[in-house]
Amino acid sequence: MAREETIAAAEQPPAERRPRNKMQDRMETFHARMRERGLKSTGPREDIARVFFELHRHISAEELYAEVKKINPHVGYATIYRTLKLLKDCELLSERHFDEGQARYEVAGEQHHDHFICEKCGKIVEFEDEGLERMQQAVAQKMGVTLQRHKLELYGLCGECRRKG
Ligand SMILES: [Zn+2]
Ligand SMILES: [Zn+2]
Repeated sequence: MAREETIAAAEQPPAERRPRNKMQDRMETFHARMRERGLKSTGPREDIARVFFELHRHISAEELYAEVKKINPHVGYATIYRTLKLLKDCELLSERHFDEGQARYEVAGEQHHDHFICEKCGKIVEFEDEGLERMQQAVAQKMGVTLQRHKLELYGLCGECRRKG
């Protein structure tokens, strides 16, 4: 099953019909994990985390910076970096390095998925394939190893870029 992020965003039901505010859950987890670390929630941290959870896509630090600026022009780039690291330490963020490119960040703790990356337009499509997952287990078994996790990245041309030739 593939989910293109642009489509996924458009399909979001209106706020009042969303079952339980996931974003609120994530903010609460963030606050709890900061408390465990003896850290306080600050205005900038709060804004950055909110924007990050709200956007929910494979965002770079620069893109996040631009988005946060819209709601809080006083947030500096260094704070963005520190907060991304904090979110990662709090296990709320996964860092991805597609094709050796700049780091991209997505919300952690979601269902496992792999990525397709269009080499022309840079679109990132998430997918999960049971057959592929099973195959990896079979390979591991043959090798006599235990898998803890994996990252699978497929590169090529997305449907739109293919049609454009
Ligand atoms: Zn493309
Ligand atoms: Zn993803």
